[in-house]
Formats: sequence, structure tokens, C-alpha cells
Amino acid sequence: QLGQPLLQVRDLRVAYGQIQAVKGISFDLPLGRITTLVGANGAGKSTTLLALSGLVKKAGGSVDFDGQDLSTMAPHRIVQSGVVQVAEGRATLTTLTVHENLELGAYTRRIGKAEREAEIERIYQLFPRLKERAGGLAGNMSGGEQQMLAIGRALMAKPRLLLLDEPSMGLAPIIVQDIFRTLREINRSGLTIFLVEQNVRQALKIADRAYVLETGRIVLEGSGQQLLGDPKVQEAYLGH
Ligand code: ATP
Repeated sequence: QLGQPLLQVRDLRVAYGQIQAVKGISFDLPLGRITTLVGANGAGKSTTLLALSGLVKKAGGSVDFDGQDLSTMAPHRIVQSGVVQVAEGRATLTTLTVHENLELGAYTRRIGKAEREAEIERIYQLFPRLKERAGGLAGNMSGGEQQMLAIGRALMAKPRLLLLDEPSMGLAPIIVQDIFRTLREINRSGLTIFLVEQNVRQALKIADRAYVLETGRIVLEGSGQQLLGDPKVQEAYLGH
């Protein structure tokens, strides 16, 4: 039930040759909550996400998703079990329209056209901007719009856990606020979210639970509010 761990990571380690990118980290993602992993460039955040998605080989540790061991599962099976990562760098299919991108998001599911269109309509309610651009090519949209589309497309796969790798990257602060507000709204409908971010302030603001990663180790954890008020966090990440 709500607040109980949906995903449990224990002593996760990942190495690229001699470089130990993730050095034995443990954390929980509670059901129905937003959890964030924040840290500087190169701290190992992306590597952690890749490990959850099965896209890098783990040197050790376990990943339990609702009783299933993800640590030995192939990436497509992980997606099928409901762990879906938003495409990075807003990798939407630029030569397709917005609507076609959303249709494709549902391709692994067996749903009819009517149901699919109803779900696309819900995505348009979350992101009215996408509705306005429905027939336009994804490649002609702004970075913020493409990020919205990438999130919408991931939602079309009906995730039980949504993973995001720096959705704020390269976007103006006002767009970031807009996108984060929508993530909150999506979360309120029950979806568990894991947000990896360098934008520490905005990430902590929307997170229920937060972890700080430094050179492959978790050095601090708490609620988003607690870490926002933590002097060490303020000094290292919030420019106080
Ligand atoms: P960023 O925000 O820049 O993505 P990050 O916190 O996500 O940073 P990672 O990308 O996970 O950090 O990188 C962690 C460490 O692993 C860094 O020292 C990085 O140089 C190294 N690294 C990442 N990818 C590779 C790779 N494919 N081969 C070798 N080293 C890598």
C-alpha cells in the first residue's frame, strides 16, 4: 500500500572497467511517492538509472520491484513489468507527429484504438500544449514541448514506476516549473516516480523523499523539505 517500498535497491554497484561509478548504494522507492536522486555532474545518477532499467551490467547488489528481482532481467522484460524510463534528451521521433509519437508509446500494449485515443486525450489534458501541436512534427517543437512529449509517450506505456533522467536539462526555469508541476499532478493520480536531477532545488521541492549522491555514494537522505533546509545541501547545491 501507499508509502510501502515498491522498489528496493540494496548495495548496488556498477563499474565501467576500473571506474567504480556506483559504489554500493541502497534506497527505497515508496509506492505512490516521488523520490529524487540528486547530485553533481558525474556523481553516478545516470548510471543508477541505467542499472534499474537493465541497460548496464551490475557489479553487485539487488533490485527488487514488488517482489520481482530486476537485477538479472533483460531490459524489455523490465519495461513489461512496468518500469518505464522517459526517453533521454527528449529523444522523440522527430519525423513523426506529436499524435503518432503518443500512439507509439502504447505499442507494447494490447489496446484498441478507442481506448488508446482516450488515453491520448488524457495526456493532452495534462499537457495542453501537446494538444495544440498534435498534428505537427515532433522535431519542430521546442525543447520543453519535446520533453513533455517524451513524458507523455512514456505514460502511454502504462508504467507502474516512471523513471526520469534530468528532465529539466537545458530548459528555461519557467518551463521546468511547468513540467515539474505536471509531474506532481501525474503522481497525485497514484504513479510512483523516480526523478534523477542536477537541478537540486526544483527536485527537492517536489520530492517526498530524497537522496544525495556524491561520487557513487549516497551521503544524505531525508524528505525533500528536510534536505532543502539542510545546511550542507544549501552550501553544496543551493548556492547559499
Ligand atoms: P551526468 O549528470 O553528467 O550524467 P551522473 O551523475 O549521471 O552525471 P554518470 O553519468 O552516472 O554520472 O557517471 C558516473 C561516473 O561514471 C563518471 O565518473 C563518468 O565519467 C563515468 N562513466 C559514465 N559512463 C561511462 C562509460 N560509458 N564508460 C566509462 N565511464 C563512464
